[in-house]
Amino acid sequence: MEHLSNRIKNMAESATLAMAAKAREFKEKGIDVISLSLGEPDFKTPKHIQEGAKEAIDSEKYFAYPPVNGYADLRQAISDKFKRENGLDYTPNQIVVSNGAKQSIVNVMLSLVNPGDEVIVLSPFWVSYTAAIEMAEGIPVLVKGGLENDFKATAEQVKAAITDKTRVIIFSSPCNPTGSVFTKEELTAIAEVVRDREGLYVISDEIYEHINFSGAHASIGTMPGMLDKTITINGMAKGFAMTGWRVGFIGAPTWIAKACNKIQGQVTSANCSIAQRATLTALTSDLGPTKAMTEEYGRRRALVHQLLNDIPGVKTNMPQGAFYFFPDLSSYFGKSDGTTTINNASELCIYLLENAHVSLVTGEAFGDENCVRLSYAASEENLREALKRIKDTLAKLS
Ligand code: PMP
Repeated sequence: MEHLSNRIKNMAESATLAMAAKAREFKEKGIDVISLSLGEPDFKTPKHIQEGAKEAIDSEKYFAYPPVNGYADLRQAISDKFKRENGLDYTPNQIVVSNGAKQSIVNVMLSLVNPGDEVIVLSPFWVSYTAAIEMAEGIPVLVKGGLENDFKATAEQVKAAITDKTRVIIFSSPCNPTGSVFTKEELTAIAEVVRDREGLYVISDEIYEHINFSGAHASIGTMPGMLDKTITINGMAKGFAMTGWRVGFIGAPTWIAKACNKIQGQVTSANCSIAQRATLTALTSDLGPTKAMTEEYGRRRALVHQLLNDIPGVKTNMPQGAFYFFPDLSSYFGKSDGTTTINNASELCIYLLENAHVSLVTGEAFGDENCVRLSYAASEENLREALKRIKDTLAKLS
């Protein structure tokens, strides 16, 4: 007999991790699966960052519990980074370093959201946002941008969704899963809707800021009156190919940073000392390797765009950032290969895994049931082969 709490019973499993696990099962059976389901850079962490970690170990100075919110010199470096790269003025005591941006987001939700409070999620959205809101017993309110608008919800839509119960608005830019990048003008319009509303805050997830093909990255916290209302999320996983090091951080109003520190002090304490030292090296070094990786993602983006457009019935935007495509494949719904009929994006993903041996993630998990998410953080060779397999397999449906 199991006696799980309602909290865990009602929690959705991470769709991206579930698909990755399914792909792994196929691989273990000896099937050559190309996995395009995880948001994971296929690059190694740059050497100088690895060296930073090795030096920290060799110094024998970083084996004890670090301060819960992160080492003071690291928080200073993050404060400097926010100022230098984003124009954001967060002092070191407004910074909290956590076990990945995922923990940062959960900390903030638990700090701000009471049971029954509403959180506006600009949709399509990263899968863990709604799980974090539900963990805080809040109610996700999806505000949807469609393909015709480059998947970007507008300030007018946000305004229409705000109620007395709205506490937070959360979104990512560059966006996972759509690759869309909100322009300064679009962020200004959203800021205008939020600015004068007491008790309403914005969580701006900027973890893909460096993987941006559209030029300058804009932070909503820089808009007039917004610094006191914005929690800026960032981390090392994507731009520095450091997913496994588990380093995320926030810049936030002091009272929110203090609350996150309090929660983290009871849940995980600080994150790994050595990962923090490696992060200090990364944030105080030249961004050359990050830029080189972004250029490579840019080449793959062009390739995948061309290959996707070569598949009949596929509709896609040209993503301006991150490393995902979010094509609309709904023209295949209702079609059959004679045995199996595809009814929705989830069934299509399973069908492609079983028949094309390519793993993608259903758009349902990200708020758009017509789409699938394809991560192009994979080699050019694998991308070419995967897109060929997808095209050949879809051609069998009629
Ligand atoms: N935000 C977004 C938009 C992401 O895509 C991810 C990772 N998939 C995260 C946050 C979490 O990053 P981390 O690995 O630092 O927890």
